[in-house]
Amino acid sequence: MSDEQNVESVVIIGAGPAGLSAALYAARGELTPLVLTGMQPGGQAALTFAIENYPGFPDGVGGTELGDLFQKQAERFGARVEFDSAVSVDFTTRPFKVKTYNREILAKTVIIATGASSVHLNVPGETVLAGHGVSYCATCDGWFFKDKEVIVVGGGDSALEEALFLTRYATKITIVHRRDEFRAGAILQTRVKESPKIQFILDSVVKEIRGEDKVTSVLVENVKTGERTEVRTDGVFVFIGHSPNNDMYVGQLEIDKRGYIRVEANMQTSVEGVYACGEAADGDYKQVVISAGMGAIAAIAATRYLEKIEG
Ligand code: NAP
Repeated sequence: MSDEQNVESVVIIGAGPAGLSAALYAARGELTPLVLTGMQPGGQAALTFAIENYPGFPDGVGGTELGDLFQKQAERFGARVEFDSAVSVDFTTRPFKVKTYNREILAKTVIIATGASSVHLNVPGETVLAGHGVSYCATCDGWFFKDKEVIVVGGGDSALEEALFLTRYATKITIVHRRDEFRAGAILQTRVKESPKIQFILDSVVKEIRGEDKVTSVLVENVKTGERTEVRTDGVFVFIGHSPNNDMYVGQLEIDKRGYIRVEANMQTSVEGVYACGEAADGDYKQVVISAGMGAIAAIAATRYLEKIEG
């Protein structure tokens, strides 16, 4: 930290692959960055059972394990990782202000890496039965469905990957998808189609999740015929995409129509000295390797900016 009024050189908000890679690069630039983890250290990657497409791990790596390795490597070079969440930011003054649950931090540069959260179905029964059969994380909750039947909603990589993970526990997994083609990659499509435990209800959407104190069924509607069917199930796993956690920056930074922070090639936002990386700024690729790369670019840009203003 700088001596001038306890102003941090670099504050990184978020500790997923983007935030921790930024921390590694800023730490190796001897900026002793402060990383605020938020409520979910490791980010969404930490909720993934196995990551098979991060280079350097030919046999795959656990999401939590990869997050721990990222953190260890950044800390080795002097990053300070705090379990605290930013609740508001002020980029209109310099140094910038980042308010957390515990204190107000002054910063010369800020790197935003607050990622994205699961989109909800917004159907009756979903909120009230969340945690009682409705889940957004198979790695976290799959075990509770040992020898039970579950429904997975969605047709992207997350839905198919998590459906495959659930085959470890559940006796039957039914994927409900609104089209008859999957958005997910070819390898995952082949694997789910080959799994004897996975079935499909296609061209269909979940209209309601039913149950008293736990999920007992869902109401499914065929989008082509309009026919509605009640399907018995013990659990509903929802994987219908992610939305960036950018509410805190509205009015302070330029944000695009889809809710992602606009960044230049060096990850600088509309405010000089403030950078954004990972899924806060990437609506198209959403890969661990890309978030990590964006984090590295943001830290290099922050380092260059500090050199420029401090000489
Ligand atoms: P996604 O790719 O956006 O897929 C969302 C899925 O949910 C789509 O199939 C979509 O249907 C469906 N959907 C969206 N809104 C819906 C609604 N209201 N009701 C019913 N279905 C709805 O999201 P994701 O699977 O979470 O993946 C996000 C990103 O992370 C992607 O870029 C993905 O490639 C990446 N990812 C990669 C891996 C990997 O590489 N192994 C793993 C996980 C995620 P339509 O197809 O009809 O739009």
